[in-house]
Amino acid sequence: MSAQANRVMALSEWEDRWNEGKTGFHRPEVHNLLENNLDKVICGRKEVRFFFPLCGKAVDMKWLADMGHTVVGVEISEKGIKQFFAEQNLAFNEEPVAAIPGANVFKSADGKISIYQCDLYKFSSAVAGKFGGIWDRGALVAINPCDRQKYATLLMSLMNNDCRYLLDTVEYNSELYKGPPFVVSEEDVKNEFGGGCDIELLESVDAFGEKYKSVGLDSLTEKVYLLIIKSTNLLQK
Ligand code: SAH
Repeated sequence: MSAQANRVMALSEWEDRWNEGKTGFHRPEVHNLLENNLDKVICGRKEVRFFFPLCGKAVDMKWLADMGHTVVGVEISEKGIKQFFAEQNLAFNEEPVAAIPGANVFKSADGKISIYQCDLYKFSSAVAGKFGGIWDRGALVAINPCDRQKYATLLMSLMNNDCRYLLDTVEYNSELYKGPPFVVSEEDVKNEFGGGCDIELLESVDAFGEKYKSVGLDSLTEKVYLLIIKSTNLLQK
């Protein structure tokens, strides 16, 4: 069992991080692995509906929207969501979500970007339908390891038949750092998604740097996978 298997972070701890400005996971630029692999995700389609689980204030949302795609994100931190719209200079409106008590949705004025402020596990295809693309960065690696099966089941239930799910993971020596981000190995990806999806490793890069050195790590590999619904499952649908 991994040293991180029993780590649990409460939602309030994430909100505290936002309130204290401890958002070192945020990248001010479009993620290089999304950029490198975008063609494989888009696959010639136009106006793809993208899902961003645990979206934070990822600038990738605006980047895709500017290309004509639409984006739906889920994020617990209202502060993070408001920072996203402010930093991207986007006017937005906010309204309650009838299907999820207590949740609000923040929508850009042009309707291309919607961010649901709620616990991810309250979200479902009944709220905003299914998706043609998913960008999972800082999401599977951020949820509590004990919730992975629940997470994978939810994400697969949000995939349209033609959905292309780009999954970004990190691997490092889990004895040296408690996470998040938590280590997700190729074996873990197969265990969680292999039942429903075909999985292809697209890219594996050395992503070690000062940030990781300073927390005591000696190496870090980032891997990006493409997940598509298994064709045998499509026939059964
Ligand atoms: N994907 C973003 C953010 C990664 S950090 C990026 O790459 O920058 C993980 C984010 O998930 C945090 O912003 C945290 O507030 C949010 N979060 C964690 N658990 C959540 C949950 N169960 N439901 C909704 N948001 C959650």
